This record gives sequence, C-alpha cells and structure tokens, in this order.
Amino acid sequence: MPSLIQNTRTILGAISFAVLTTVCILAMPIISHADETASMLQPGEYIQGLAHKRAKEPFVLQRLTERTYMVSVRTHNSTFYVSDTGVLVFDPLSEGMGQKILDAIRFTTDLPVTGLVYSHYHTDHLADAQLFVDAAKAEGVSLRIIAPMAVAEQGERYGNAFPVPTEIIQKNPGSFSFGKLSVRVETLGDTHSVDNTMFLLEQEKVLVYPDTVEPEDLLPFFRLVGILEVVAMEEALRYVKTLDWEFLNTGHGNVGSKGDIDRHLELINDIRDATGTALKEVPFEKFIAPPSDAMLWVYNFQEAVADSAVEKLRLKYGKQPRFDAVMRSHVEVMTHNLIHYPSK
Ligand SMILES: [Zn+2]
Repeated sequence: MPSLIQNTRTILGAISFAVLTTVCILAMPIISHADETASMLQPGEYIQGLAHKRAKEPFVLQRLTERTYMVSVRTHNSTFYVSDTGVLVFDPLSEGMGQKILDAIRFTTDLPVTGLVYSHYHTDHLADAQLFVDAAKAEGVSLRIIAPMAVAEQGERYGNAFPVPTEIIQKNPGSFSFGKLSVRVETLGDTHSVDNTMFLLEQEKVLVYPDTVEPEDLLPFFRLVGILEVVAMEEALRYVKTLDWEFLNTGHGNVGSKGDIDRHLELINDIRDATGTALKEVPFEKFIAPPSDAMLWVYNFQEAVADSAVEKLRLKYGKQPRFDAVMRSHVEVMTHNLIHYPSK
C-alpha cells in the first residue's frame, strides 16, 4: 500500500510538473532564438541588441501584441498576425528569408499561413512568395494573396515575376479583413516607390510601412531608401503619424514608434538645410570650363556641394556608425530633389 501511494504521488508529481511546464511555455510572452528578447516591448522601446542578433541568429522573433509578431531575418523584417484559424504574413521577403519566416511562425502556432500581403513590388520584399504558395499547397489550404491596386499594376508592368494576387484592394484608401482583424490599406504617392503601401492592423495598433524610416539605426539605406520625392515621403510620414498605432515595422531596423518618425523627419530637414545652404554657397560659375563638356561642370559642382553639405551634417550626425557610408548619398538625392521639385 505505501508503495502504491508513493507511486501515485510520483505520478501526480510528474503530471503537475508537466502541466506547470506547459502553462509556463504557453504563457511565454515571446518565443525567440534569442532568449534575451523574451519580453513584450513598450511602445518606443527597441529589441535589445537586434543588430547583433540578426547577424547571429537564423531569425529573431518579437511579439508586439497578443496576436502580432515582427520577425527579423538578416537585413529585413516581416510581420505576421495569428488569427483563430490561420496566419497572415506581410511580405514574404527573398533569398531564403521567407523560409525563416515560416520557421519562426512554427514557434508560435501550428496554424497554416492562409494570407500573404504584398507591400510593394520590389524583389527583396516579394521574391520568396512561391514558398508560401507551396507551403499552403502542402498543408491543403488555400492562400489569399492580397495586394493593393498600385502593387498589382506594378506586377503587370514588370511581368508578374511573383505569384499573382488573388485579391486586389481596388480602393485607395481601402481595407480587408482577416478573421477578426481589420486592415486599413493606403498607397501614399511617389515615396519609396510609386506603389509603396502602408497597412494599419487596426485592432492590434500595429503599422506596417516598409522602406520608410529605419528605427533605432536612424541613418537609412542609401538615397533615403531609394526615395522618389522627398516632400511626398515627408507628407506620408506626417499623415501616418496621425493614425492610431503603437508599433511600427518598416521592414528594416528595429521595432519603430512615432518617435522614430519624428527623428527621421528631423534628419530630412537637416539634410535639406545643409544641402540648400551648400547649393547657395558653392558658386556654379567656378566650375564652368569651356573646353570640357557641360555635364562635367555640373558633376564637379555637385561634388563640391556634397562635400560642403556632408561636412555641415557631420557636426550633428558624425558619430552615427553609418555616417561615412550613407550620408553623401542622402545629400545627393536631396540635391536632385531640390533641383527637380518646387518647394511648397
Ligand atoms: Zn523597396
């Protein structure tokens, strides 16, 4: 009899341990290859050491809300939302990063990916879409591929290199639903591209707006992320700041907030001021050399303007690790914007 009680106690103990372990695992706020990120963030807070982790880990998974996650793979980020019946992914990424997104999703749920959103028709954000089509087929589920009209049109223009959308958001602004989630969809003009689109996950208060600002790192990819028109981007950023959200995923850098948009707008202003002043200070006549081609005069003038503007900006931004790598390109794109677009 005593041994039966002992055995019963042992069995009950093992069951309690198993239950406790399961509850602990289910209650974990974050599931990540990097345990240090195992906490929810407050709005405005960054994932600690993300630049280092994204270089070391296959992926870094950060839970933003009850149902929404940011997954960082090497240079890019994607966003996914877990509904009661399936997962919605914003941007499949490329170069095998899509598989890492699928791996990351498996850390949070066994539900299949049933929705895929295209933010804009750029290869680095969309080229792994076929992996998601294949995964859905393997699981025997249908995959919604959702694209704003502007993105679908770019796809047609460039030969639909990626799986074609199954749903096109006709209106701008427009919307779609995924389970209980409502997503506001808005393409905001000649910014990073003609089709670059923001997505507001309304109930989650998460904004997905790729290739705009670079949270935490401040100095973004070259030429202000390949910007088309600086003023259009400033207007778009001021507009999205008025919407109701707490967390931002721009496809690169850390988790963002409205503070990151403010810092980016300040950066653009500083680059405009420095470049505008340099354009006034450097005399074009100095570079007119009649025997040479006129384009060489312009080239030498623009080089002198860039030299001058970069030195002005060094005072405030020189300590940024990327300053010497990217600032000159930001000045060059600003020079062309100031020449081509009238100021408002
Ligand atoms: Zn892009």
